[in-house]
Amino acid sequence: MISIRHLTKTFLNPDGSKITVLKDVNCDIEKGEVISIIGPSGTGKSTFLRALNMLEPPTSGDIIVDGENITAHGYPLDKLRRKMGMVFQSFNLFEHKTVMENIIYAPMELLHLSEEDAKVEAMELLKKVGMSQKADVYPSSLSGGQKQRVAIARSLAMHPEVILFDEPTSALDPTMVGEVLSVIRQLAKSGLTMLIVTHEMRFARDVSTRIFFMNEGVIYEDGTPEQIFEHPVHSATKAFVNRIQKLVYEIDGDEYDFLQIHTDINRFCQKYNITGKENLAYSLLKEMLFTHMRDIRPLTFRITHAELSGVTALDFMVEGMKESPLSDVARESIRPQVKELIEETTIRGYRIKFII
Ligand code: ADP
Ligand code: MG
Repeated sequence: MISIRHLTKTFLNPDGSKITVLKDVNCDIEKGEVISIIGPSGTGKSTFLRALNMLEPPTSGDIIVDGENITAHGYPLDKLRRKMGMVFQSFNLFEHKTVMENIIYAPMELLHLSEEDAKVEAMELLKKVGMSQKADVYPSSLSGGQKQRVAIARSLAMHPEVILFDEPTSALDPTMVGEVLSVIRQLAKSGLTMLIVTHEMRFARDVSTRIFFMNEGVIYEDGTPEQIFEHPVHSATKAFVNRIQKLVYEIDGDEYDFLQIHTDINRFCQKYNITGKENLAYSLLKEMLFTHMRDIRPLTFRITHAELSGVTALDFMVEGMKESPLSDVARESIRPQVKELIEETTIRGYRIKFII
């Protein structure tokens, strides 16, 4: 359905220097594929999507869609835009139009639907994304998650063959990520061809037929979710998909800012979508610092979260210690609260680890 050959994109900076963002992108996309594009920021993922629907015409290379070279001079871009919808991180709704007006605008203008027909269909689409109650309100009264669901319905109203999603959940409050991902999941099952730039690794693994790992302006590795996430060939891919997020504190005497740690833990759990674990993390930290390890300083506290496996751990590390500082009473108190309690010597000392 789509063939991309030697696609490059070079930007000219205001100072006259050049930056080549897409170096040599090649791929073939079949109808009905759901492809997640992952990779570090600044590697050209957004530029790639924007080149694909000619919002950002490529510098060189060919993009063949249904047998036609869309980069050819004079190719009608409105035809392309009808085939290819795009959903942006920042929703891009018309703020001065109601939800319904947002959805019927393009079908009436470009597909020449009557207002009546456009509204009937818009209502169907709003039901599909769970927003039919909000047809007559303005976007400003909606939450981010609701806006994004409307933006998806608006894109579907043009009956595109392909939808490009550029980090559709990145601008959302963590509590709203799930509702948008579940709408996209539902679309993925419907046979629509989709390309999704996302940081949500587990979502990408579950929903995609194929993953592109983009790095330094090329598709660095391309494979099934199993290949990319379980058996990546390149070390850069491996490092990226197995990323572990962490917060680390040296707790030295009693001069530490416990409130700050509490705030940081809350933010951390929100950011990585593990809200629900923050209270346990906080109460275990308190119990360890103020009771079981009260007299042990300095110690290092670390909270880690592996996005792909979903494992969250709390580590308490003490340098030079040879055996566990936990008493039997402490162990009994903690064990029922955690998934796993690990006590182990390390090269530099001793570590107590809770998997929560
Ligand atoms: P990603 O989506 O992977 O984070 P982008 O495609 O947004 O990456 O950007 C890749 C690089 O291209 C970045 O260094 C960015 O600053 C640069 N870039 C993107 N758009 C432009 C532009 N219009 N002019 C100049 N540089 C740009
Ligand atoms: Mg981007």
